[in-house]
Amino acid sequence: MVTPRPIFMEEIVKVKRPSTNTLSSEDSKGPLLDPKEEEPPSLLCPYANPVELSSQEEFRKRFFKDISPAMWDDWRWQIRARIRNQQTLSRYLKLEPEELYTWKGDWHPPMAITPYYLSLFYEKAPDDPLRRSVVPTIDELVATEGEAQDPLMEEGQSPVPGIVHRYPDRVLFLATSFCSTYCRYCTRSRVVGKAKRLVGRKRWELALEYIKNNRQIRDVLISGGDPLTLGDEAIGWLLQRLRAIKHVEILRIGTKVPVVIPQRITADLCKLLKRYHPLFLSIHFTHVRELTPETEKAVSMLADSGIPLGSQTVLLKGINDNTEALKALFLRLLKNRVRPYYLYQCDPILGSSHFRTKVQRGIQIMKELRGFISGYAVPTYVIDAPGGGGKVAIDLGSVLSITEEKVILKNYQGREFVYPNG
Ligand SMILES: *Cc1c(COP(=O)(O)O)cnc(C)c1O
Repeated sequence: MVTPRPIFMEEIVKVKRPSTNTLSSEDSKGPLLDPKEEEPPSLLCPYANPVELSSQEEFRKRFFKDISPAMWDDWRWQIRARIRNQQTLSRYLKLEPEELYTWKGDWHPPMAITPYYLSLFYEKAPDDPLRRSVVPTIDELVATEGEAQDPLMEEGQSPVPGIVHRYPDRVLFLATSFCSTYCRYCTRSRVVGKAKRLVGRKRWELALEYIKNNRQIRDVLISGGDPLTLGDEAIGWLLQRLRAIKHVEILRIGTKVPVVIPQRITADLCKLLKRYHPLFLSIHFTHVRELTPETEKAVSMLADSGIPLGSQTVLLKGINDNTEALKALFLRLLKNRVRPYYLYQCDPILGSSHFRTKVQRGIQIMKELRGFISGYAVPTYVIDAPGGGGKVAIDLGSVLSITEEKVILKNYQGREFVYPNG
């Protein structure tokens, strides 16, 4: 069988990193795109029927007058045109002093925001939830006790580069370290957007070999970075190789692409993905405002392709840490056939204290959701245990006592009920 050679995004978009230990004016510009790496226009994506006029249309007309709607809707253009430093960002919005700090060190991913995602918040205040999740602030430089570069000890549970094998029957396959837009609270901040590439044919082959040799692996979660930033050919190559392994029963992809470049979800991509069922998709959503007509269209195309969709949301201080915000998000997701899967307590990566809420806050919110809205709209609240213990579901206190005779339960209204345990 002839397998096509995958095209890796890193080969298309060359990332030049500023040095990590000097604080020069060069640093504040952030990494630059290599202009030689332009794509030929033949790669225009077929996502040509924009659903309705939305904020992005106004934004495009105001700031990207010379960019045609077809170009704007080309996901490769969206990636090439990412806003990658404060200087460029300040053309579109007025940055606060705390957003203008000079980027330094290795804890965090570089800044990158697609024009599409920027169009969702360019007119909003500094405390806007979407702005806070992707625009770096000086708070990132404050490391506090208990934080670590790799709190989940993924490196320690990585038998081969790019594989994290923590649970008996499933692995995490880090297919790329590239994302179109970097979330400032990223659990994988230590690797994403960095020169230390997770991608490359040899690395993928080694990871595939590991999966092939470990027959207890029946579930492969492809993540990164964002695997959907890879080209169709690379995605198809990887899925096909994984599907060829007999004991791999289900495949999953973790992505934020439908939220930050919905243009990437093309008819061709859907056609490709549906060839590898059972394939699940976990989409990273943070806020209800991310459910634009474009994202709803993308999600609907995926659901129509028979892909079960789940969402993963990180509980973030000042961004979504209130019951109303999460209720609106989860109900809207469910309406779009996305099943809220996990609500994560924010991982204690270095410089994350401004994002982290108390666990009590999360429990309170969960108690205000469970029972009040459809069970399908309520995710499991988890902490990914520091040290590599895996995801631990947080007890919401519904079992008051268990004896040989009876179980005393507390319902969503706080009323007590007895189950006969005899
Ligand atoms: C989250 C995670 C998984 C998947 O866990 P599920 O609870 O099955 O969704 C697998 N491996 C690693 C290392 C993970 O962090």
